[in-house]
Amino acid sequence: MAGALPGAAAAPAASRPRAAIEAVRGTHDLLADAMRRHRKVEETAATLAARSGFAEIATPIFEFTEVFGRSLGDTSDIVSKEMYTFADKGGDSLTLRPEGTAGVVRAFISGRLHQQLPFKGFYRGPMFRHERPQKGRLRQFHQIGVELLGAAEPLADVEVIALGYDILTALGVADLVQLEINTLGDGESRDIYRQRLVDYLRGHSERLSEDSQLRLERNPLRILDSKDPTDRAVIEGAPAMSASLTDAAKQFFDRVCEGLTALGVAFQLNERLVRGLDYYCHTAFEFTTDALGSQGAVLAGGRYDGLVAALGGPATPGVGWAAGVERLAMLIAEPDGAKRPLVIAPLDDGRDVEVLTLAQRLRRAGFTVEVGFSGNLGKRMKRANRLNARAAILIGGTEGSRGAAVVRDMETGEQVEVPLDSLDSHLERFR
Ligand code: ATP
Ligand code: MG
Repeated sequence: MAGALPGAAAAPAASRPRAAIEAVRGTHDLLADAMRRHRKVEETAATLAARSGFAEIATPIFEFTEVFGRSLGDTSDIVSKEMYTFADKGGDSLTLRPEGTAGVVRAFISGRLHQQLPFKGFYRGPMFRHERPQKGRLRQFHQIGVELLGAAEPLADVEVIALGYDILTALGVADLVQLEINTLGDGESRDIYRQRLVDYLRGHSERLSEDSQLRLERNPLRILDSKDPTDRAVIEGAPAMSASLTDAAKQFFDRVCEGLTALGVAFQLNERLVRGLDYYCHTAFEFTTDALGSQGAVLAGGRYDGLVAALGGPATPGVGWAAGVERLAMLIAEPDGAKRPLVIAPLDDGRDVEVLTLAQRLRRAGFTVEVGFSGNLGKRMKRANRLNARAAILIGGTEGSRGAAVVRDMETGEQVEVPLDSLDSHLERFR
């Protein structure tokens, strides 16, 4: 079998050390401390989302490539450059999800959930984008997000944004972020605006990047989202969306702003804020921070009334956001550490089974318990210190022959002899 593997013939001789295997560029391991931060972000978000009626859901990590192509648009950066796409063994083109909304909407359509509107979902999980890795920008990263489908009212936008704000507040980062909002208007406003924008950009097309020259024909609004520095200079002078809004679009946006103000959610208008995805309309928003260098976007979203229909479902309005867990995890204060354990150590040899039996009994009673697997008492107590143990339970020795154990309070150093049958109640103080 091994001979069939490509490169197997060139395998190094057994005596030569092999090159260490590394994690793929742009991916990272969530070891205990990092995981605690991630959990804090995700659990806080899940709890607050549930309070607003957003139940947690999960969709597959890969979908048919078409799901993303149709929802993000073939000219988007994500679809044209950043997707991990592969042919599976059956020949289908599949893609690791680069974002969460397309999959949730696909699930909404597949599950025929339009029969019970509104639909409110919260999700968390890994996303994959082939980008240039840097601080706060990974190829496998994690998002939390919410989607609210089936409500066309501006109040829905307010609820969704306020939930994002409350999560950032609960995470203790509200003071580090700013909310910027804009409106992209309705379909009619966009048609008017698109024409004005194209007229303007045509006059400067020689100064646009190659990508943006292509977009000028296919999807001019997306040029506003370009990060290319030469494009940025042209975009600075572009006409503002606000001058092209219909009365209905203006009214919608006013009601969103009023709602946020009523809830005490501070925001700034940013006419240059556009979302790079085709299906967005009306409200676009982004919470950004200066605390993370150039990767300033922490939570971003907007209204996407055209998406469900674009994916073949019944026309259904939608609004939602997604936030980067890694970026939020860098902003929050150190979360509480793990629970301090009790450590059990034997005072003499041959007590391994006794140690384990007691550990298991206490664990079943809800205590956090560690046992050292080897070493003399000194070594085990050293390890107990390193584990930040709350107390140590020493079994065996002369106390053991009296049916008792020694319990050492690791904080005060105080040691007491405790009969084994009243051990649990004595240990309550160390929970
Ligand atoms: P950016 O402007 O930083 O590229 P984006 O507009 O591509 O962000 P969205 O698609 O709106 O981001 O995703 C929502 C959030 O997910 C972002 O605000 C950010 O916090 C996070 N995010 C996006 N891409 C990455 C990545 N490659 N690595 C880590 N977090 C990311
Ligand atoms: Mg991006």
